[in-house]
Amino acid sequence: MNTPWGYPDFDAHEALHFVTDEKSGLRAIIAMHSTHLGPAAGGTRLWYYADDADALTDALRLSRGMSYKNAMAGLPLGGGKAVVLADKDRTKAPEMLAAFGRAVNSLGGKYVTAEDVGMSVADMIEISKQTKFVAGLPVEGGAVGGDPGPHTSLGVFLGIKAAVKRALGKDSVAGLHIAMQGAGSVAGGVARLAAKEGARISIADVDAARAEKLAAETGGTVVAPTDILFLEADVVSPCALGAILTEESIAGLRTPIIAGGANNQLKTPEDGKRLDARGILYAPDYVINAGGIINVSTEYLGDGGPDLVRSRIEAIPGRLDQIWAESAATGRDPASVADAMAQKLIGRG
Ligand code: NAD
Repeated sequence: MNTPWGYPDFDAHEALHFVTDEKSGLRAIIAMHSTHLGPAAGGTRLWYYADDADALTDALRLSRGMSYKNAMAGLPLGGGKAVVLADKDRTKAPEMLAAFGRAVNSLGGKYVTAEDVGMSVADMIEISKQTKFVAGLPVEGGAVGGDPGPHTSLGVFLGIKAAVKRALGKDSVAGLHIAMQGAGSVAGGVARLAAKEGARISIADVDAARAEKLAAETGGTVVAPTDILFLEADVVSPCALGAILTEESIAGLRTPIIAGGANNQLKTPEDGKRLDARGILYAPDYVINAGGIINVSTEYLGDGGPDLVRSRIEAIPGRLDQIWAESAATGRDPASVADAMAQKLIGRG
């Protein structure tokens, strides 16, 4: 019998909750990887998974990533993530969101949710009618909250600049070519910041209209989704889904830098080593994309205002520099260095 304990991505997760609400059609998995540093926090992804096993793999990998992300961002939070197994149209009935909110509530605050792919601020409002263990809610008057996307984008952009400084010795992205995979919330923010500083942007999204719109806004060029990773570019910024850096794709890369906001970019730990062997500087995803959870954490815990959020996000480049310096000193690839640092922080090193 296949049990979650036997799954390749199972990593001593503390708890897995399989949620079913027949009335609303909700099927979800809430994965709590670690509560060593605090409540397991991480967003909810609503996605159509052709195979249920893919949803479990996603929940396992994403929740472990959140443990690492929260620890490396210095937040008093553990790592968790939820996936909602949607139908092909990704229908979101209010009753389904309510049932999901009740499931989160039943965990008594051990898991705290927020937005991820497929979930919006409006959805968090629905969920918050059932539970207080939710962030990413709208706020007024300059308080901390709302869509985490722009904060993630800012951190990714600052991380790209740190990578550009390290690999290319440049202080600005002006005149550089940045290839964006995805044209969603995170990619949009990164592309706008980079274009404002004078970068040339190429954009691909499986939703062609989204790519066109972002290209028009940033003076960028639309590229086929199958080509974007393999462009000759100063930076390739994966900002769509995970597991896109594989033995095969890495062999075809023509960039000195991979720095983007997508979670779980490496298909396997070996792929971090492959990037390093090719001399490509990799910004570990859960370090560079922590801006959103930094905002969520500050909102949820109420431990500071927008200035604290900004200063925590501005610490991301320094953390990347620390990882790259240790990688250069030890000969280990940046992803392995970051994993070891994170594991130590969550008491598993
Ligand atoms: P989003 O749903 O707004 O955008 C994702 C975009 O990627 C969509 O437009 C989708 O059509 C596109 N896409 C999917 N597969 C693609 C492919 N193969 N090629 C090109 N485009 C493709 O989501 P988002 O919030 O921008 O998140 C993007 C990534 O960043 C995800 O991996 C997410 O987990 C991660 N992330 C997001 C945040 C946040 O604050 N939103 C924080 C940390 C990490």
